[in-house]
Amino acid sequence: MKKHFEDAIQERPLLGDGAMGTQLMLAGLEQGNCGEEWNLTHPERVLAIQRRYAEAGSDCILTNTFGGSRIMLNRHSNGGRAVEINRAAVGIARAAFGGREGYVIGDIGPFGGLMEPYGDFSESEVRDALNEQARALVEAGADAIIIETQTSLEELLLGIRAAQDAGAHAIIGSMAYDVTLDGSAFRTMMGVDPERAAEFIEEHGGNMVALNCGTGMDMERARQAVLRYKQVTDLPVMVQPNAGQPKLVDMKVVYDEGPEEMAQGVVPLLQAGVSVIGACCGSTPEHIRAFRQAMDEYLKHENQVV
Ligand SMILES: [Zn+2]
Repeated sequence: MKKHFEDAIQERPLLGDGAMGTQLMLAGLEQGNCGEEWNLTHPERVLAIQRRYAEAGSDCILTNTFGGSRIMLNRHSNGGRAVEINRAAVGIARAAFGGREGYVIGDIGPFGGLMEPYGDFSESEVRDALNEQARALVEAGADAIIIETQTSLEELLLGIRAAQDAGAHAIIGSMAYDVTLDGSAFRTMMGVDPERAAEFIEEHGGNMVALNCGTGMDMERARQAVLRYKQVTDLPVMVQPNAGQPKLVDMKVVYDEGPEEMAQGVVPLLQAGVSVIGACCGSTPEHIRAFRQAMDEYLKHENQVV
């Protein structure tokens, strides 16, 4: 029988997947349209992307539900299909492994606004939306839930609670840090630093501390953030950095780190004790394939030494 995700990461580091949004665009999704709707209308296209990640060596695949809360889906008049969209996403990600053992991580992204008193959304509205999404993902069989690209602890807490109430096995809290120009400070848009985030996640019963996306957060800075996490918590750590920095080329956003360059950061992250390594914006199946190679070589060597 397959090990639970939270047990598997105690035995060996796992490889995550790469970007979904940019891959959906390549597959024909137009800017501003609802990529999560494709779980129902074009499941074969979502599957094709996730299958490429599985074939590149991903051990874990995130569901195509980053914007899958009712509040986000309402922007595209899809709020009424929130449960259906999230359930379908778990099935597609599972199918991407093609029968091979792999972990499906149910993805909950930001709800896309600010809560009162700073914004228009009441806490109960956000709570209901996250509860609904988490329940749909867990009931459909997600092995873990990641609450990612988080900048505020208030919103993160609603996500953690939603995942707990849904009965999720493993709950991953993932923050998006912005790095200051001189590289000295990592803070989310709402002013949260890595130590505070790690303590908060542990205090509220999260099972894993993570970071993804952000601004200026490359593989090396991710490693620095990991070391800071490790100083305040023993929880396992997951990272999904962007493929370097975004640049505007011919009116298109491209990320400047190729697979080989980015993969050079894999071993230092493993040495820092990271349990799951994936990648965020701008990364591709080729990046994940290069990660796989770097990871396997490192692990083979490790096993010989021990
Ligand atoms: Zn990203």
